[in-house]
Amino acid sequence: MIGIYKIKIVENEHLYGPGKRLLIFLKGCTIHCKGCVNKHLWSFEDANFMSSNDVLNIAIKENVEGITLHGGEPLDQACKLVELVKLIKDNNMSVILFTGYKKKELNKSKIKVWNMADIVISGRFEIDKINVNLQFRGSSNQRIYTHKGKYKNYKVNDGKTSTILTLDNEGNLDINGFLTSDILKIIK
Ligand code: SF4
Repeated sequence: MIGIYKIKIVENEHLYGPGKRLLIFLKGCTIHCKGCVNKHLWSFEDANFMSSNDVLNIAIKENVEGITLHGGEPLDQACKLVELVKLIKDNNMSVILFTGYKKKELNKSKIKVWNMADIVISGRFEIDKINVNLQFRGSSNQRIYTHKGKYKNYKVNDGKTSTILTLDNEGNLDINGFLTSDILKIIK
């Protein structure tokens, strides 16, 4: 079973990739980058556990273009993600992987997930290299691999900032993307 913080449907290419996507925040991260804004996802405890088939069924029902694996650190659950990623690919959907690891650091199961993904965004978040105008990345050291599959010729489009603000029925605000001073003004 995969330890998940939350799942949501998104359509924001700049932050999460092309088309309508199932965005999956995995629970747990052992990397601990300085300045990480997702510290609440570092612990592996209090996860919602879902099977690969549970996730696949949501993806099919929602008719998404693909899934985006976000963190936490997805590859810290690589053994469990191999089956999910294979199922998603077998059903003609795409996979985008965000990971704090570099390729040279990966073991066998981590590399399997990496190799099946259509786009990989790789590398630690480095606070002294932060840049809010990059597509997919939070800091300029992070690399994008569009090595194969559906997005082989994908053109990365830097130069804008994107934030998703979602207000639920109870008035709780969920923020995805970068919290710039302009966005803070809007929230206030
Ligand atoms: S890998 Fe991602 S979730 Fe983990 S500490 Fe770094 S930025 Fe945060």
